Amino acid sequence: MPMYEYKCDACDHEFEREQSMSDKPIKTCPKCKKRKARRMISGTGGFILKGGGWEKDLYSGPSNRGGGGGDD
Ligand SMILES: [Zn+2]
Repeated sequence: MPMYEYKCDACDHEFEREQSMSDKPIKTCPKCKKRKARRMISGTGGFILKGGGWEKDLYSGPSNRGGGGGDD
């Protein structure tokens, strides 16, 4: 499971959580208990590189490129 980095807007506390991609982002800061935690997408976990696959899946239906559509 990928690790996600969180940072709390309220107290600046940073922490990591192991979550599956489908899990909801954590909102509650474990330190101050305020719902101010935000997930940081910073390259640490290689999230962006790994995520390359999903784009293909999305576009696997109708082929959008090279079809010569309405751009002229
Ligand atoms: Zn906090």
